[in-house]
Amino acid sequence: MSVADEKTVVRDYFNSTGFDRWRRIYGDGQVNKVQLDIRQGHQQTVDQVLEWLKADGNLPGLSICDAGCGVGSLSIPLAEAGAIVYGSDISEKMVAEAYYRAKDRLNVIQKLSFTAQDLETLQGRYHTVICLDVLIHYPQNQIPEMISHLCALAESRVILSFAPKTLALTILKKVGELFPGPSKTTRAYQHKEANIVKIFSDNGFSIQRQTMIGTSFYYSRLIEAIRNTD
Ligand code: SAM
Repeated sequence: MSVADEKTVVRDYFNSTGFDRWRRIYGDGQVNKVQLDIRQGHQQTVDQVLEWLKADGNLPGLSICDAGCGVGSLSIPLAEAGAIVYGSDISEKMVAEAYYRAKDRLNVIQKLSFTAQDLETLQGRYHTVICLDVLIHYPQNQIPEMISHLCALAESRVILSFAPKTLALTILKKVGELFPGPSKTTRAYQHKEANIVKIFSDNGFSIQRQTMIGTSFYYSRLIEAIRNTD
């Protein structure tokens, strides 16, 4: 599938069945056990990013690009903590939901903007660029271009999460594929950490902090890469 076709599939999914599925997972209403597990795992990822950024002590006023922001699960608390947040997502519906969730919180709305945009068309410079749980929707051959573009947008730092390609997770994924339920997602791609680290290195970034977040059905490698200075 071409790059453009792949993105069209992802956009269409997150504007239709994917929107309904992920809006529920990223909400607080009733969901099934698997979705609840994914909700809790994802929340751990969001909380870990917030903990890292707050620990640095310079979050108020920091410009942050949240690429593939979904329904604003990270963008909104970042703005609440004082950051200036530019959230964007390939899906118009996800962005509209993010805006809806933020709009009643008058203290955050001035610090937030949301646009419907593919991450590779984003422009500008931000202190920090964050991209959580987006790479899972793309095959390896598209990852170098996506990460290189995120690096070009970042003055100082890129934080991203991805499903790591390990033997245990590959087996788990295969088992999962045998039982496609009604809420089956798009294809999920795992990525080798060594490849991601190499792409960062090629773009002049080094890994600073990293952690693994795993529940029963949610696996995410979270890494922070800092622009090298010399
Ligand atoms: N980052 C959010 C979070 O962690 O709460 C949302 C994660 S959700 C699993 C993946 C999101 O990536 C969806 O909202 C989807 O529309 C968005 N997405 C997928 N491909 C994208 C792309 N090329 N550019 C921007 N957003 C994209």
